[in-house]
Amino acid sequence: MRRREHTAIWLCVDCMVLHANGELPTDPNPEEPEPLCLIGPGEQLTAGMLAEEHECGWTGWSAERPECDCERQEFGRHRCGGCGTDLAGERHAATLWWTSEEG
Ligand SMILES: [Zn+2]
Ligand SMILES: [Zn+2]
Repeated sequence: MRRREHTAIWLCVDCMVLHANGELPTDPNPEEPEPLCLIGPGEQLTAGMLAEEHECGWTGWSAERPECDCERQEFGRHRCGGCGTDLAGERHAATLWWTSEEG
């Protein structure tokens, strides 16, 4: 059985911009981490976090979305989930999706 899995990750600005442009790295080079080089072929990335991840109380059920800062950090220290950079800086929330085989 196939199951759709997801997890929230944080992206640095480079990765966020690249994803917004719909591009993927053409020539991954481990020596020089490229934006989104950690995103595998079977994985999909969507911008923003799911309603359940919001700490502001937004449930996702109402069309009206409160202004919140849950999806953006001015100076995040999370390792970038797209390229692995440890450099602290602006981080944007994203959701990573993949399918797992079960059973
Ligand atoms: Zn929120
Ligand atoms: Zn990155």
